Amino acid sequence: MCRHLAWLGQPRTLAALVLDPPSSLLVQSHAPRRQRYGTVNADGWGVGFWAAGRPEPARWRSERPLWGSASFASVAPAVSARCVLAAVRSATVGMPIEEAAAAPFTDGRWLLSHNGRVDRAVLPPARDAESVVDSALLAALVFSRGMAALGETVREVGAADPGARLNLLAADGTRLLATTWGDTLSVLVTDEGTALASEPWDDDPRWADVPDRTLVEVTPDGLTQTSLDASEPA
Ligand code: GLN
Repeated sequence: MCRHLAWLGQPRTLAALVLDPPSSLLVQSHAPRRQRYGTVNADGWGVGFWAAGRPEPARWRSERPLWGSASFASVAPAVSARCVLAAVRSATVGMPIEEAAAAPFTDGRWLLSHNGRVDRAVLPPARDAESVVDSALLAALVFSRGMAALGETVREVGAADPGARLNLLAADGTRLLATTWGDTLSVLVTDEGTALASEPWDDDPRWADVPDRTLVEVTPDGLTQTSLDASEPA
């Protein structure tokens, strides 16, 4: 399983979000604390962000371990953004290890990361998928259905493949969306902004766990959580 995070708020450097915290994504790439599947996330990484004045996201991805990227370590303290989405990858057995298989995926407007696995046979073929990795096919499906239908799409895919793990994290520069479906997610709300992360990157007592099967939405106005469980009222 992978680990991912997103930030929406006052500008933060990529280093402050991804490299510097005591249990940063960098540390999680070799020593995650809460990961349920897999032990290292060494099959690639990706960081996406919105630079001031550009409507579309910028991405930097690699098929190599994050801890080996001296170039990213050098540039990350010099780049700040109000909205960032980053991931480190542990490839599911049988999936390709290539840059295009590392999250975040994009449709040009949204960035999206998938922590989990899904049987590709239950996903429609997607000509515009960035890679044949299950996560890229799932991203293509989510983009084509529209982000307003994210919860519904996850519920449908989860019903088609009961063994699927569908922890998604998405951002469009002004909004974050996330689902929990089989793995952990934590949220940190501060005066400066909101973070969503597979696991807390430090011991700040304000981190709160998101229950499984939940849809989370973060806007500048606040955070909402909705149950994805069909048996509970939305
Ligand atoms: N199935 C996806 C992949 O192979 C995600 C893996 C994960 O969450 N570890 O990249």
